[in-house]
Amino acid sequence: MMLALQKYSITLIHKPGKEIPVANTLSRKSMDDEDSSLSEAMETQIHTVISAAPVSADRMNDIRTATTQEEQLSTLKQVIWSGWPETRKKCHPHVSEYWNHRDEITEADGILLKGEKIIIPHSLRPHMLRCIHTGHFGVEKSKHRARDVMFWPGMSQQIEDMVKQCDICQTHRSANTKEPMLSHEIPENPWETVGTDLFSENYIVICDYLSRYFEVERLTNVTTTAVIHRMKAVFARHGIPKKVISDNGPCYRSHEFKQFADSWGFQHVTSSPHYPQSNGLAEKTVQTAKQIFTKAKEDKRDPYLSLLEYRNTPVDGLKSPAEILMSRRLRSILPNTTQQLRPQVTPQDTVQARRQSCQQRQKEHYSRSTKPLSPLHAGAPIPFQQGDGTWKPATVIQPVETPRSYHIRAGDGQTFRCNRCHHISNHTPVIQQPEISEDDAGRDTKNDQQQPVSVSDQDHFGPYRTRYGRVIKPRKAFDL
Ligand SMILES: [Zn+2]
Repeated sequence: MMLALQKYSITLIHKPGKEIPVANTLSRKSMDDEDSSLSEAMETQIHTVISAAPVSADRMNDIRTATTQEEQLSTLKQVIWSGWPETRKKCHPHVSEYWNHRDEITEADGILLKGEKIIIPHSLRPHMLRCIHTGHFGVEKSKHRARDVMFWPGMSQQIEDMVKQCDICQTHRSANTKEPMLSHEIPENPWETVGTDLFSENYIVICDYLSRYFEVERLTNVTTTAVIHRMKAVFARHGIPKKVISDNGPCYRSHEFKQFADSWGFQHVTSSPHYPQSNGLAEKTVQTAKQIFTKAKEDKRDPYLSLLEYRNTPVDGLKSPAEILMSRRLRSILPNTTQQLRPQVTPQDTVQARRQSCQQRQKEHYSRSTKPLSPLHAGAPIPFQQGDGTWKPATVIQPVETPRSYHIRAGDGQTFRCNRCHHISNHTPVIQQPEISEDDAGRDTKNDQQQPVSVSDQDHFGPYRTRYGRVIKPRKAFDL
């Protein structure tokens, strides 16, 4: 019945009996015998659904053959056709584990389905587990990915065990790092605000703040021209975002990039040089991308399939990045039915609200132990921590448009741009507020190698350092 009704979008409205003037035929004249013409029509419909499924015929055949060969699933099939007993006790012991799902289980052309999900026979489950874990994502992500398309009793537990036992995942387990603060406003629509960052010498990542969908591209060389070229390709695919957030790297702070932003009509926001946390999402995405590539390499798997799995995996209790951005699941090596691949729009306000509540929770988590810092005014005397960790007095020249960023002048006349939390330390007597910034919570300030960048140098390609102090030298520019 569920399959037969798939082509309709049904709205159910309850009407009490007294409002129905004519007696309801269906409830009074039930069918006594099986109508063979009806079941024929049903089978045709079912056949259409399955034959149109974009799962390769071979894989579907594997599932079908295995389903037929397995005693449990054969019994299940019989039970579906003959009808479930009234109580669980009367249920055939072989199939009692399916009891709770009995209302949703159907058979279609030799394949058993729970709702729209394919029930995977025992013999194929190990293979499916390996497919699910293609991208080496964590327990929750792997579970979400699997639940989206397939089903068998105890699947979640098996996924959990598999991920916990995976050697590659154990080796690359990251320390429990705190989520970066995402203080940027949650955008209303997908691909409205994107973050971007360069990593591993010549890769660029561009990520969407709403859907968490990201694109990763290889750069021919690390020049502004190459970066812009790649960004244009990605924007041609998904549209031009309203806002692009990046760090203050040489490629992004160049005049050429400003021209690009002007001519393509987007706002470009940079985080301050030594405080890239406000580019948190892009940085987090870089970590994700690196993990995907490293694990795929070690597993000798195709990294692009891992990337595809990431995009198809629901995150943060929301739909998958691909579904939020493109309103559809992407076809992958996991089995899918036509129905699952049909475009389906998620109301944007739901996504936005969910993201906002996630952000709020993170903020509350941080602010439990911290207090906000008051803004600094021009002329305010501040202690400034230098690259070698020593402090010296400085004066605020002016705030920068980026929150908590300031231009400052040191005693010797040198000017710098830096973040609010670097100006003040707990043991500096000059300043009366000994709090730490909310963004500073959980950071090991000793490891923050700050290398002051002179304001006047900002338009040139000077040595640019990562937050870990590694100097990034721009390579020689070649024509693309
Ligand atoms: Zn793994």
